[in-house]
Amino acid sequence: MKIQAINGFKDILPDTIDRWQYIEQRARDIFARFGLQEIRVPILEKTELFVRSIGEATDVVEKEMYSFPDKGITMRPEATASIMRAFIEHGLHVQQPVQRLYTIGPMFRHERPQKGRLRQFHQLDAEIIGATEPLVDAELIAMGQMLLDELGLHTSLEINSLGCPVCRPPFKALLVAFLKQHHTDLCDDCRRRTHTNPLRVLDCKQATCRAVVQSAPSLLDMLCRDCDDHFQRVGQALHHFDLDFQINRFMVRGLDYYTRTTFEFLTTALGAQAAVGAGGRYDGLIEQLGGPALSGIGFAMGLERLALLMEQQSTQKYTASFMDIFLIALGDNALNACSRLAHLLRKNGVKTAIDYAGRSLKAQLKQANRINARYSLILGEDEWLQHEAILRNMHTQEQQPFALTDTPEEWCSRLADIIGPAPQ
Ligand code: ATP
Ligand code: MG
Repeated sequence: MKIQAINGFKDILPDTIDRWQYIEQRARDIFARFGLQEIRVPILEKTELFVRSIGEATDVVEKEMYSFPDKGITMRPEATASIMRAFIEHGLHVQQPVQRLYTIGPMFRHERPQKGRLRQFHQLDAEIIGATEPLVDAELIAMGQMLLDELGLHTSLEINSLGCPVCRPPFKALLVAFLKQHHTDLCDDCRRRTHTNPLRVLDCKQATCRAVVQSAPSLLDMLCRDCDDHFQRVGQALHHFDLDFQINRFMVRGLDYYTRTTFEFLTTALGAQAAVGAGGRYDGLIEQLGGPALSGIGFAMGLERLALLMEQQSTQKYTASFMDIFLIALGDNALNACSRLAHLLRKNGVKTAIDYAGRSLKAQLKQANRINARYSLILGEDEWLQHEAILRNMHTQEQQPFALTDTPEEWCSRLADIIGPAPQ
């Protein structure tokens, strides 16, 4: 019996890895422009970390976590909680009051797999910890937008405010009263959510629930002065950075720790998977996890969704993987010389391919094209005897003689000079 990968766990094969690497490189580059440093945190954490941060009554904690109950540990479903744990554990704020961090890696959630939704998926996660100013919110959002723009993707930006412990509870009470009145029109999930996580009803995808919440009270009308002021300033700053956005009062996030600003980068190109990235402010989280009273804001983008969108939308040229040269040796003497030449070229930083199986010239040229070789050096028995190989530019198909009069060391430096660095 053949063993296959687990449902929802996917191989990322070499023919798509160029796109993934390109996205990651662009992200690293842009994050660095904004002063973010990389942090790498473990995949396994104590279950309690996620329960306490993400929240007991959230979908993620209720039904999506991969946990080992006998060991009390869980495979991370997201990165923010782990980064905050590391931040507190190492007292990072003592060294630098504002920490700008990012991480890239796999996350695990037991959901129903579909296009753009996996059980092991990957996120780019960015966090700015220790700053409360609305300009920081706008700067972080602008950084996410810059990445999407530079990848050549078309997304829309929506923002909302989730208030704070001052203004959210009275809103919640009002919302619950409203939902109870409309109890019979809600889906089963939302009837339950009315009691466990009422805000979540606001972004239910069921048509009947959506109709109900149209007339629900809005938190934006009930924000306390500070939250309202913060929200206005974020909006102004986004204009200042030339960002287009819409206010969506129904947007809530699936994780409990969010306060004030929340935002999503959305697409219509991936069916039900509308969110490419999402994030928000989490002002009470660090203290709630036993750390100092510092606020933070962050976002996560899904790499699978970015890669799918790139495939559909981007005209961006990213460097596909290539080889500098393919050494085509025919016959034992040629192969012997070429194997040493390949070793020397590689030592000198030249990406070199060679085939040891003694295939025909035609087959090897085909292979050279398949692996996207810029040049090939053809060295058959005749060429060997005449001390002159053929150097072929695989893109222009031009050929030139290449003298083999002296040592492989000398061929190597001459070849490296001729083929030069790869074009960017
Ligand atoms: P969704 O509403 O699509 O379930 P979410 O609100 O659960 O998303 P977040 O927890 O905010 O997602 O994660 C941020 C980003 O991570 C999402 O915008 C998405 O791009 C990606 N993401 C989340 N869950 C998955 C998944 N199961 N498979 C692939 N990508 C995911
Ligand atoms: Mg989800």
